[in-house]
Amino acid sequence: MRLCDLISDYPMIKIDALPAFNDNYIWLLQEPTNRRCAVVDPGDAAPVLAWLDENPGWQLSDILITHHHSDHVGGVESLKAATGARVSGPANERIPARDVALNDGDQLEVLGLSFSVMAVPGHTIGHIAYVQPEQHWLFCGDTLFAAGCGRLFEGTPAQMYASLSRFAELPEQTHVYCTHEYTLSNLRFAVAVEPGNSRLQQRFEEVTQWRQEGCISLPSTIGLEKSTNPFLRCETPEVIASAVRHCDTALKDSVAVFAALRSWKDTF
Ligand code: ZN
Ligand code: FE
Repeated sequence: MRLCDLISDYPMIKIDALPAFNDNYIWLLQEPTNRRCAVVDPGDAAPVLAWLDENPGWQLSDILITHHHSDHVGGVESLKAATGARVSGPANERIPARDVALNDGDQLEVLGLSFSVMAVPGHTIGHIAYVQPEQHWLFCGDTLFAAGCGRLFEGTPAQMYASLSRFAELPEQTHVYCTHEYTLSNLRFAVAVEPGNSRLQQRFEEVTQWRQEGCISLPSTIGLEKSTNPFLRCETPEVIASAVRHCDTALKDSVAVFAALRSWKDTF
């Protein structure tokens, strides 16, 4: 197959972050040929409606939802009413105006691309993530964050650890589009857990600089997360040692290390 055939097989899609609230990002996927776009987790309709206003001729075709928290679904109903967009979200949660109920392993066609759905319980019980394997995109909501992970509101440490482990098996070049700008505070914690990790120190300095300049720290990549995110490094000796020292008890397996790190981070 020639390169131009490969390119023409997939629409060129641009992804931008629309900031919302204090630290949320609404990911906006734009397909310029047909002037169609899609958003992920619009907690607020206003930034999306403003973008559509500034870009006449563009149509919002899809709204993708990862989980039921209001900072992710708050804008769904008014966006659907204003644009007629199709709303897709997890089957096992209450999602306003949902048209398509998704389960693990489902495929969803959006802007001419096929996304696969992963069930990733932990932050919430029905939380899902969207993977686009050819473009190497992961939209993971509040499950994996840059240098961190979501709080355990509904699931168990074992569920969250299994969900994060599935992400870790994705190709290293996969871009991680999570929903919050938490990277710098996550990195402060990561450095406390693993001060001997030089790649982590380097990332901390890099992101500190970006944030001082007002730049977004996302997307990340699976490769970068595997080398710097303590929650994906529960089998690393220094991470284990720090977790054991912090909770002052033996930890029998990686799930126990993960659970110790997660509760440490909750009060960090
Ligand atoms: Zn959430
Ligand atoms: Fe959130």
